[in-house]
Amino acid sequence: MSQATLAYADALRIVLAASSKAPVENVPISACIGRILAAPVISAADLPPFDNSAMDGFALRGHSIVPAGTELDIEGEQAAGDGIAQARNGAWEIMTGARLPDGLDRVIPVEQTERVSSTRVRLLANVEAGQNVRTAGSDVSFDENVLATGTMLQPQHVMLLAALGVPSVPVAERPRVAVLCTGRELVDDATQALAPGQIRNSNGPFLAARLPLAGAQVVHVETVGDDATAFEAALRRALDAGAKIIITSGAVSMGRYDFVPQALERIGAQTLFHKVAIRPGKPLLFAKLPGDVLLFGLPGNPIAVAVGLRFFVEPALRLMFGLPQETPLRVPLSKPYSKKPRLRFHLKSRLHIDTQGRLAVEVLDGQESYRIRPLSEANAWAVVPADVDALLAGALVDVHGLGHLEFPLPCEGAA
Ligand code: AMP
Ligand code: MG
Repeated sequence: MSQATLAYADALRIVLAASSKAPVENVPISACIGRILAAPVISAADLPPFDNSAMDGFALRGHSIVPAGTELDIEGEQAAGDGIAQARNGAWEIMTGARLPDGLDRVIPVEQTERVSSTRVRLLANVEAGQNVRTAGSDVSFDENVLATGTMLQPQHVMLLAALGVPSVPVAERPRVAVLCTGRELVDDATQALAPGQIRNSNGPFLAARLPLAGAQVVHVETVGDDATAFEAALRRALDAGAKIIITSGAVSMGRYDFVPQALERIGAQTLFHKVAIRPGKPLLFAKLPGDVLLFGLPGNPIAVAVGLRFFVEPALRLMFGLPQETPLRVPLSKPYSKKPRLRFHLKSRLHIDTQGRLAVEVLDGQESYRIRPLSEANAWAVVPADVDALLAGALVDVHGLGHLEFPLPCEGAA
């Protein structure tokens, strides 16, 4: 095991090399929101499935323009849901969405017509071929690639899938994740009064809330005291629950009760790194357990946990989902910012619209890793690289969403 402090990029490379693509499962479209498509969706139908009217009006036919003033017999009526009808030479009263009677090729809106009698209509405007007709396949044609692999499925995709009659989609399985919090100071029960020296466990609930939004499935959550034996027993329960990723909080620093590294050694885990040149969360540990289970040992400070999840676990999830690594937004700082060099900083930040209507990012006050409240006011992470120490207002910084699925913007030049 290397004790040297790694650069973030090197640590991330190790995490990604240890991660592998998730298996694929089929889910009904009613349960696909937030899931990542594992294969393209190819249309097996035309959309619309038949030529139909875009207007309430009269359907008719002609060789070229049918001129204003033309009078036609009304041959029939066609409403949405009506089946095949055979037109002769006259007009058909037609409703929006109704199948065009065979032989007709254009529709004039009802407002541009005048009833001459109960059986005759006069056109008040010229009507061109194809006018107000939604042709079969004009939205989607048969055998088209309509959704790409890697699409994070959203309600608008469900609309398309439902319209095409796709009952289920292949998506990446949600990795099974266990959350283990360590610390004898922790209290889980919100109704329990705190004894002197105790604090409430906020990392466990945070991770359990954030992981499903990142696409993972939380299969086990447990809190243990600063007790290596209890921790090992909890690890076994996490593995028994089928966890493929274990996230621990606390006990990875240099303190007397920081027993996670030794406990991992005892169970035969391979620690791939311990300590990364980042703030917060420098003592972060990454290990591989027998059975290719990944363990992220996050330092206990709440913001170190949030950063560990966002910048180590979530990139691994992206690889598992077959997603490319993220390209951050580049956004101007609303105020100058300075920091120590040598560490890459992850900053609780707020993306906002400035008075000129332009996107800007504010690094929030209270960046210490114990301070939870600024994170609750944040809507993004600003990241300042290790070698940068001072930035002027207006300087561009990398900005990431609070979660990796939060800004699903296409990148120019990406495949
Ligand atoms: P540790 O990494 O165990 O030394 O913990 C670092 C700091 O994070 C200490 O102030 C702990 O009390 C705090 N801490 C550890 N675990 C949690 C937790 N689950 N929720 C909130 N704070 C925690
Ligand atoms: Mg602790």
